[in-house]
Amino acid sequence: MLSRKQIEQRKYIRPEIMFVAKEMEKTMRKHDGSKGDSWRTCDIFYLMEKLIEEKNEVENAFDNLIYHDFKDGGQFRGEIVDLANVCMMLWNRKDG
Ligand SMILES: [Mg+2]
Repeated sequence: MLSRKQIEQRKYIRPEIMFVAKEMEKTMRKHDGSKGDSWRTCDIFYLMEKLIEEKNEVENAFDNLIYHDFKDGGQFRGEIVDLANVCMMLWNRKDG
């Protein structure tokens, strides 16, 4: 276990966080042509609806992973990334 001082002195971002962030960016870029940065100015209630929608997609993908196709985590990970992106959008909104 790390001490508080060791934790505060940590100079790097965990590789696991960077990996997810890169996947988030890839997904955002896929939609740049059609949606761009519309998340910055759209109705914030729309983003809250998207949050619930993506959460449900994660649950469905989890069910598929566990009960139907345990070996393919790609769909599950993709939905996790979608959910993380909506969380990122909400976190960054000034009116949130
Ligand atoms: Mg999705």
